[in-house]
Amino acid sequence: MFEKILIANRGEIALRILRAAKELGIATVAVHSTADSEAMHVKLADESVCIGPPAARDSYLNIPGLLAACEITGADAVHPGYGFLSENAKFAEICADHEIAFIGPKAEHIRIMGDKIEAKRTARALGIPCVPGSEGGITDDDEAMRVAEQIGFPVLVKAAAGGGGRGMKVARTALDLSEALATARTEAKAAFGDDAVYLEKYLEKPRHIEIQILGDGLGNAVHVGERDCSLQRRHQKVLEETPSPALNQDQRQKIGEICADAMRKLKYSGAGTIEFLYENGEFYFIEMNTRIQVEHPITEMISGLDLIVEQIKIASGAPLAYRQEDIDLRGHAIECRVNAEHPATFRPSPGKILYYHPPGGVGVRVDSAAYQGYVIPPNYDSMVGKLIVQGRTRNEALMRLRRALDEFIVDGVDTTLPLFRALVRNSEIQDGAYDIHWLEKFLAAGGMDHHE
Ligand code: ADP
Repeated sequence: MFEKILIANRGEIALRILRAAKELGIATVAVHSTADSEAMHVKLADESVCIGPPAARDSYLNIPGLLAACEITGADAVHPGYGFLSENAKFAEICADHEIAFIGPKAEHIRIMGDKIEAKRTARALGIPCVPGSEGGITDDDEAMRVAEQIGFPVLVKAAAGGGGRGMKVARTALDLSEALATARTEAKAAFGDDAVYLEKYLEKPRHIEIQILGDGLGNAVHVGERDCSLQRRHQKVLEETPSPALNQDQRQKIGEICADAMRKLKYSGAGTIEFLYENGEFYFIEMNTRIQVEHPITEMISGLDLIVEQIKIASGAPLAYRQEDIDLRGHAIECRVNAEHPATFRPSPGKILYYHPPGGVGVRVDSAAYQGYVIPPNYDSMVGKLIVQGRTRNEALMRLRRALDEFIVDGVDTTLPLFRALVRNSEIQDGAYDIHWLEKFLAAGGMDHHE
């Protein structure tokens, strides 16, 4: 097992990793930018190293700085969290070259899944169902037209290097196609420095359902159920729940087993998430994330597993200590991503938290690095924390969520808490009757207007 883990991240996920390391008796090193000297992860780690100025490219993305911090502190492993360097294959390789364990999958797998065209090709070869679309990248407009007519309009132009919903454009008819291609290419070039795009059938009313998997790199792999992340704004997840209200046990087992089996064939190592769109009873692969995800706690709540502990054990070379039949999913869990943003306009609201009172009680978990007096810096994402609730049934989880949201107080900055208070009281949400467009329609119809 490792002796000392350097956490190459900040905020709630840095704290989350630190907690897992402590429970395993592993020493921790926090790194931080000058904007984060007062951050909770710095206060709670055994050691800390300042690695640069506020801009992420000079601090949390600064690979030489991170390696130097490992060297100085004698860390023998790095956990990248999510975002920042978590899906950077080069960083994983450089760590290995310096005999520092990267707590994540093999660089080769990060690379394959980081290129969406390659990821889709691999998924198809592994028996994972995919969205109909172009076989590979699309280079000219005539070819695009041929593919689009084959799969049928509407189609979606997507960036091979995509992420965060950027470089994605819908073409409803043949007339829109060349413009959609041009816009997606320009956006992709600007955001990722790579203008490769591909085509997919545009699904009108899908849900976003993703499967959590764990593999040990030795050919063992399990799935830990699904998460329904259909409540999105601008392709960003807002609230997640597990199990999905749309699936029955049969469907769950079937898609879960397809994913676990694919990971066994790939000899995948670590935690990963296989993301699907789900429509009319069919699953369509969209991408795989080769890291821990923001919404991982809901899976922990129903499985009893600590996914970060599992990541650490796997990276240290341990085989999975359980088989699929040992994974026992119980009850229901829901997560709300509470951001420092206006609940109706979503304008970021960095600044000082004047009063902070997180909820507690049975079945309530708050993963947050916030505290009273903490100043949320304007340089990074605006997350205040994640409120996670668990119940024996979906109804119990919803009732618990309602009361936990009513207890939660964050003064001094705007937060999205009022949005969640409205959502948990909405009858369609209560019925689980929502798709990936539901939230934007709710907002456009003035669902939060009294907050303007
Ligand atoms: P990114 O990596 O940019 O987040 P994804 O491929 O994961 O891109 O897609 C993000 C979101 O975009 C999905 O959750 C879904 O809301 C929407 N989306 C992606 N592909 C399609 C599709 N073929 N049809 C309809 N919506 C899609």
